[in-house]
Amino acid sequence: MRITLLHGNPQNYSCNAYLVRGDSNEREDVNSLVDVGIDGSVCGEIDDLCTGIGKKRVAQVVLTHGHYDHAAGLGAIVACYRPKVCAFAPGKHVDVLLIDGQFLRLGDREFEVMHTPGHSEDSICLYCARDRTLFAGDMPFDVKTPGGSYPGELLASLERIASRDVATIYAGHASPVISRVPELLRRTIRNIRQSTLSYSYSGSVPSPKLHPEGGGGEKSLPARGHSMPESLSDP
Ligand SMILES: [Zn+2]
Repeated sequence: MRITLLHGNPQNYSCNAYLVRGDSNEREDVNSLVDVGIDGSVCGEIDDLCTGIGKKRVAQVVLTHGHYDHAAGLGAIVACYRPKVCAFAPGKHVDVLLIDGQFLRLGDREFEVMHTPGHSEDSICLYCARDRTLFAGDMPFDVKTPGGSYPGELLASLERIASRDVATIYAGHASPVISRVPELLRRTIRNIRQSTLSYSYSGSVPSPKLHPEGGGGEKSLPARGHSMPESLSDP
């Protein structure tokens, strides 16, 4: 498996988008884009990469969640590559609704789809047991101190992630975490347990909203039967 971090246009605030390819561009490998960013600017980077002869450069998009900085560029990506688009919540351009516990092929690996609400109700993580790799989206996995306010769903999601054997986290923002992941998760869980937890998405989440909407981008995808909570962590 090869994971390439795409930076997009540095002038525009965006998330990390990752292109996942197989080791040797075999026919059965599924070139996959994990999140797309706020605009279509990652297309230029993708077009410079070797993605296999006769294969779609991007055969599949997987959204970790629908916040605008992760998903607003979807229209441009669809126009470029006509990929299958997978997400946990329905939305424009989404072809496949993911289910907690299903497995999805990215590159030449199988990933477990884990519904991990907390940062948003539609958040998922993607876990590859073989490589001990996790795509975490915007899950706040590095909470350094106790005392904040968090939805209880986040604690359950973190405990579930910690039950896997994760060695590397590819985050929605900032650099990958490549060492001491179990310790990091344990500290975060401990600190969140010592914080204020709320257990309803229908109520307000007492945390600052760090994902402003608007600005011409698409809005967050609606979650299934619930309103989208406000964001928790660094965007
Ligand atoms: Zn987000």
